[in-house]
Amino acid sequence: MTKKRTRTNLVHGGTRRSQWGELSEAIYLTQGFAYDSAEQAEGRFANPSPDEFVYARYGNPTVRMFEERIALLEGAEDAFATASGMAAVNGALMSVLKAGDRVVSARALFGSCSYIVEEILTRFGVEIELVDGEDLSQWEKAVTPGTTAVFFESMSNPTLDIVDVAAVSALARKVGALTIVDNVFSTPVFSNAIEQGADLVVYSATKHIDGQGRALGGVILGSSELIRKKVETYMKHTGGAMSPFTAWIMLKGLETIDLRVRAQAASAETIAKALEGHKALTKVIYPGLASHPQNDLAMRQLGAGGTMLAFEIDGGKEATFRFMNALEVILISNNLGDAKSIATHPATTTHSRLTPEARARLNISDGLIRLSVGLEDADDLVEDLLAALDAV
Ligand SMILES: *Cc1c(COP(=O)(O)O)cnc(C)c1O
Repeated sequence: MTKKRTRTNLVHGGTRRSQWGELSEAIYLTQGFAYDSAEQAEGRFANPSPDEFVYARYGNPTVRMFEERIALLEGAEDAFATASGMAAVNGALMSVLKAGDRVVSARALFGSCSYIVEEILTRFGVEIELVDGEDLSQWEKAVTPGTTAVFFESMSNPTLDIVDVAAVSALARKVGALTIVDNVFSTPVFSNAIEQGADLVVYSATKHIDGQGRALGGVILGSSELIRKKVETYMKHTGGAMSPFTAWIMLKGLETIDLRVRAQAASAETIAKALEGHKALTKVIYPGLASHPQNDLAMRQLGAGGTMLAFEIDGGKEATFRFMNALEVILISNNLGDAKSIATHPATTTHSRLTPEARARLNISDGLIRLSVGLEDADDLVEDLLAALDAV
């Protein structure tokens, strides 16, 4: 097919039809593949290709359709799909690191990401230095010759600080280090991370790619060289493969992701503007607001403010719980990127493992709420939030 635009690729990209010509992508629920001959079996093992299959832990036709479709969206040469977002983060890091390597990582990370960086990698003799990701001068100091990789979430959870992908990956490239980006909050719709210099981009497909809260999944994207030589080799032997059924869910998610995420971001902006300056709040954080300290960078890097916002209730945990319990439409959960809007209290859930000092360092106060904006009518969401704020 000639080169097509994003929305077309999201509907048709990667499709492989069987002899039946099925319209919807087939779910190949098979772990193995029969060969026409012993010679064919020998050939598949001697010259592996992502487009021929030997075992579902290595690859599967439905999973391959998903990998090709998400690679088209990201603008990456290739992809490897994984069982969860954490299998993707772990796979991206473990496939390129060894004992004695040095990694510079942003400090503000999803809990399980910081566990891998601070607890697991260090156990295997990888040196870790943590920096405040939004502060370029800290990266400049830390990314020294001998650094093997830099790792960060391009938009941090839950305080929505933005790391400058182009600037940090340029620093990394200068010393021969790889740039590995967890891009969940930025979403693959708004991401230009590969173009801006990232070597590996990782998503939890559980979030916006499914977008409807059904399945766990993940994906690692990058050059064919890195994906086939490093990532696939590590993943296929360690067992973090995506299931064909999950791949089918994620393929269906990709068909609508552009429409969904753009609608969610538009509602997030409406909500941020409606909440900004509210007397019950001490701050409203949304990268799409002119008041966000990195608004310029957000527009340059993503061209949008994203689907997440955060705000701080004036009054601590008790008042904040009163606010959450008064919500009618917005649900209390710790997921994000879903069609359903979700309010999270990071201090007592996603970031409860941290010490109070570590939370304070990341600006996660007892009044902080993280809001993942869904697909409901934005006016209903604004009304729900304003009514719950009255209850505070
Ligand atoms: C959810 C999430 C993950 C982990 O993804 P799972 O699919 O839950 O394993 C990793 N990084 C970020 C930023 C996330 O939000």
